[in-house]
Amino acid sequence: MSAKHVYFFGGKTADGDGKQKELLGGKGANLAEMCKIGIPVPPGFTITTEVCAAYYEQGKKIPEAAVPEIDAALAKVEATFGKKFGDTSDPLLVSVRSGAALSMPGMMNTILNLGLSDASVEGLAKKTGNPRFAYDSYRRLIDMFGSTAMGCEHEAFEHEIHSLKHEKKAALDTDLSADDLKELVKRYKAVYKKNVGEDFPQDPKKQLYLAINAVFNSWNGNKAIEYRRIERITGLKGTAVNVQAMVFGNMGTGSGTGVAFTRDPNTGENVFYGDYLINAQGEDVVAGIRTPEPISKLNDEMPKVYKQLCEIREALEQHYKEMQDIEFTVQDGVLYMLQTRTGKRTGTAAVRIAVEMVKEGKIDEKTAVKRVAPDSLNHLLQPQLDPKSKVKPVAQGIAASPGGATGMVVLDSAEAKALHEKDPAVKLILVRKETSPEDVAGMHAAKGILTSTGGKASHAAVVARGWGKPCVVGCDDVKIDEKSQTITIAGKSVKAGDYITINGTTGDVMIGKVETINPSMTGDFSTLMTWADKSRKLKIRTNADSPADATKAREFGAEGIGLCRTEHMFFGDDRIAAVREMILAESVEGRRKALAKIEPFQKKDFVGIFEAMDGLPVTIRLLDPPLHEFLPQKDNRAGAEAVAKQIGVSVEKIFERVEELHEMNPMMGFRGCRLPLVFPEIGEMQVRAIIEAAIEVQKSGKKVFPEIMIPLVGVVEELSILKTQAIAVAEEAIKKHGVKVEYQIGTMIELPRACVAADKIAEEAEFFSFGTNDLTQMTFGFSRDDIKGFMPTYLGNKILPIDPFQTIDFNGVGELMKLGIQKGRDSRKAKHGSHLKIGICGEHGGDPDSVVFCHKIGMDYVSCSPFRVPIARLAAAQAALGDTVRDK
Ligand code: PEP
Ligand code: MG
Repeated sequence: MSAKHVYFFGGKTADGDGKQKELLGGKGANLAEMCKIGIPVPPGFTITTEVCAAYYEQGKKIPEAAVPEIDAALAKVEATFGKKFGDTSDPLLVSVRSGAALSMPGMMNTILNLGLSDASVEGLAKKTGNPRFAYDSYRRLIDMFGSTAMGCEHEAFEHEIHSLKHEKKAALDTDLSADDLKELVKRYKAVYKKNVGEDFPQDPKKQLYLAINAVFNSWNGNKAIEYRRIERITGLKGTAVNVQAMVFGNMGTGSGTGVAFTRDPNTGENVFYGDYLINAQGEDVVAGIRTPEPISKLNDEMPKVYKQLCEIREALEQHYKEMQDIEFTVQDGVLYMLQTRTGKRTGTAAVRIAVEMVKEGKIDEKTAVKRVAPDSLNHLLQPQLDPKSKVKPVAQGIAASPGGATGMVVLDSAEAKALHEKDPAVKLILVRKETSPEDVAGMHAAKGILTSTGGKASHAAVVARGWGKPCVVGCDDVKIDEKSQTITIAGKSVKAGDYITINGTTGDVMIGKVETINPSMTGDFSTLMTWADKSRKLKIRTNADSPADATKAREFGAEGIGLCRTEHMFFGDDRIAAVREMILAESVEGRRKALAKIEPFQKKDFVGIFEAMDGLPVTIRLLDPPLHEFLPQKDNRAGAEAVAKQIGVSVEKIFERVEELHEMNPMMGFRGCRLPLVFPEIGEMQVRAIIEAAIEVQKSGKKVFPEIMIPLVGVVEELSILKTQAIAVAEEAIKKHGVKVEYQIGTMIELPRACVAADKIAEEAEFFSFGTNDLTQMTFGFSRDDIKGFMPTYLGNKILPIDPFQTIDFNGVGELMKLGIQKGRDSRKAKHGSHLKIGICGEHGGDPDSVVFCHKIGMDYVSCSPFRVPIARLAAAQAALGDTVRDK
């Protein structure tokens, strides 16, 4: 332990500084720093975190060497502030607060007004001419000191104030008179004595030392231990203790208090933004009992103070090079700063502030890039619910795709589609138990999607996120009754056609309309993105299945398509009949006949995508889901009848095939590469459509780089058979047209076995793309659509730190990925002398923490939904730049 235990600050000097967070805690270091740069701060001192460690080493005793230093620092505070602790005519009062190196909010309550006693309270009353204030401060001290330092129940004090208010017929605390509060002090002291077994200490020094002990004890209180465990905070010495002179904003009209941000935290505009109240205490501004005034008005009421405050605003920003959140108090015309810290802000504000601070010369471009939390960019990319709306949420589900949407409830996808066709401006919220590929058209027609089951990787969530459409899933409180076309949300009945609103950013569900606002892509946004691109090493691709999505993603900076899920194309109205005919066919010929009908559509889709991605690589995955997903299910007779009519077979025939295709575990069943291995004609049709489309687009003068991707490979033989087939089909098409197209054939790595056998697989694969949705599902044995029953318990009980479908499970799935990369790359290099291109196309490709992981394990690219492309660009840049400085 260093020789110095106590660090004084005040009078524009300080023993410590802002860099000493480990020793002085965050709060202590910041207070010292403010003093150092000449900002008026009430004087005080910080007892170091090392003293806390020694306190525990010595069996919960303040080390002897610290005591004279505490006394000396207190004397210095008295001299600086011109008041004496315990003085009976004009007492110095102090606050005692904890403050560790990392912020641990709620770890310990603050004790204010320390130093008041039966004698000094009278002095304070006389000096301020405000006995009400004096006795109010005293009763608060007894409550805070009793419940925080001495283990009394706060409720016991609360009980006393309630009964007194009842007796005095006072509605508010403020209705109690000075005499009432004097009486309350008496009652509080009785509560204290009853609980502690002795009188409330009248010696202020005794109060101070007991309070310091209490702060140190709180370091190992259950709350703090639990907090550190959850936040995985380790390696700290302990908490520091800050003892600081109290100043009061409620000493009359020359006093006041306020909170402010040095810039607007909503828009980022460089304006002074905040509120204040004259003759009030800090908590009055926050509690909303009185309506505070905007900060600019302080210029009329206290022009000198306002001018000084503006100068401080400038000085703080100049010093910290960051937007600050400040608290101040004016006592009898004298301004004191109580706190400064980095201000929380919206995504829009974060971007604007970062860019403007570079222009102002405060920070460099790299710092700007590191400052903005990638996920906060969502704010710039989605329509938002009007924050001024008064409509209150009635239920909450899982926030699956951000943004706000308001619209009429529709329970049926076909109806949603029909309503949308009738009136493209119609606002609909599709409400389903869950969604399946059959719902895609209805989901597309809706402004937002709400499901009562499913998690973050459910069909609804994935599809909605892909489109940037607000979506709330797994909202248990929503009960759907299709028969009566009614839903109940948390017990309230809502009919189809009535308006509801969902907030996909928070998971909130509201009954009724809420206005939405469309945020625009500002110049600052693209400026920040350009800076990000200068630093990142990872390429960013997108998951897109249509030219429109591809174009959108390109606008957002996508450098290729990392996953085109061809099955989504099978659902189009113009082809679903042929797809079903193919599934129902009983012979190869029958299937080929149906596939021939699908092929021109597939080719057209691919042409559109290649055109949109001119010059960039496009990874197209062969059909992946089990075939039954394309047929109406057993409980859908009407649907089956329609299909039967459409393709000219009997309903029974359809149900027979549905029965045949039924699987206990479809996700582990007849899907992925298993489909074209059994029905080669399906894969052949798709490869031909891809290559023919590539040839056509290339002929038109555009550049195409098709990458054919085989899903769900576990053994190399699966890939080598399909690769041989694909090459044969591709070469035939190339020969036929006499046009050479460069294409690659690779695989998805979605099975644990594929990671382990990656060396073998890489001998055949020209690229790997990690399908981490399936890889997570198969590694954990968690069905990605059925985690709702246990995941909340897993997360709540910290069995898992985070939903592994959201952020890669670094220690399990991540280790498999590392193995796959290392084995794959080594083998490809050894066998072919070439670099194996590796990316990711699972949902994790758009999750910032997972992007950082992908950077670290040496991937070449990440691929995510179009609306997450800017987020991934920023996360990739931050990964390359190392530690971020943003507040997470
Ligand atoms: C995956 O499994 O991660 C993947 C991208 O494929 P899908 O989500 O279509 O199964
Ligand atoms: Mg998959």
